[in-house]
Amino acid sequence: MKSAFTATLITLCLASCSSYHPLKDPLTTYKGPFIAKSAPGVKATFLGNTTIHLTDGTTDLLVDGFLSRPSILNTFFGLIKPKPEEIATQFKLAGITKVDGLLIGHAHHDHALDAPAIAAKEKCLVMGNTSYRKIHEGHHLPADKCHLFTVPCDGTKKEFGKFTVSFVKSEHVTARKFVQKWVEGEVCTPFKTPAYFSRFKCGDVYAIHIEHPEGSILITTTAGAAPGALDHYRADVVFLGIGLLAKETCCQQKTYWHETVEAVKPHTVIPVHWDNFSRKLSRTPGASTSLSPTPSPPDDVQGAMQVVNTQAKEHHRGVMLMGLRDSFLLHKGKVQTQQAGTR
Ligand SMILES: [Zn+2]
Repeated sequence: MKSAFTATLITLCLASCSSYHPLKDPLTTYKGPFIAKSAPGVKATFLGNTTIHLTDGTTDLLVDGFLSRPSILNTFFGLIKPKPEEIATQFKLAGITKVDGLLIGHAHHDHALDAPAIAAKEKCLVMGNTSYRKIHEGHHLPADKCHLFTVPCDGTKKEFGKFTVSFVKSEHVTARKFVQKWVEGEVCTPFKTPAYFSRFKCGDVYAIHIEHPEGSILITTTAGAAPGALDHYRADVVFLGIGLLAKETCCQQKTYWHETVEAVKPHTVIPVHWDNFSRKLSRTPGASTSLSPTPSPPDDVQGAMQVVNTQAKEHHRGVMLMGLRDSFLLHKGKVQTQQAGTR
């Protein structure tokens, strides 16, 4: 078991010098750093991996809670835990002043690690699967209907101000490696951090659909889909999880695109889950290009971007890349941005 960890670690370290960077890929023509236009609408800010903040100026939602980003060494050989000071710093840098709803796509550590700390800090309502419920309970947080909404036990749809959030049944990207298989299944017993990352079992996976009078957004926190599940939804923008997408078969890649993107027919697709989440987020204001891609191997971000670009071209969808803390405004279904530093 130790040799598998060591091999993974060495591979990751050796591969960290990979030269491909999606924000510098001429095919994707990254237009950042950019910020949302200062006007009425829904502002979306990217915080790395699949952590995304949404606000309409009244109600604030956070998709996934993962800002502490423990190192590979800490993740595989130690105990991991949320870092409240890091969360507070990243909130401040991103201009996040509050969270009303915290939405957890599945319970792996790179999506749920910081959720209990954010829930404790913000006293917000957390929406997640039954595995997340066990993590929440393990931290002895309030689990009444004002603080915890468990999908599907409490339903699959919830309103937050003018936002309507739907958790739509989905699937996880295929677990091929030992470390991925290790975190399959359900969290059955409540636990508290610090904990081994292997305690963060996946549980049920949901695509998160968010409807607002200004427009609609779909977020997939992993590159899998349940056929037909999104057929009755529409979205102007899709945040598309592409982690390990390149490792899927060609058929799986096409199915994922078809059952996710083509199901909801967005004008804009934003790839997410491409950055190396074992590296800390920059504390320098701006620093949009400071995210680095997941090394190849174990992933192949360039291959995943090729899949996205090919499918988007074939189906006439726009692709937009976001760097750290880049933001856009969704207004009347359209994406509006301006260069950072302009008004
Ligand atoms: Zn996952």
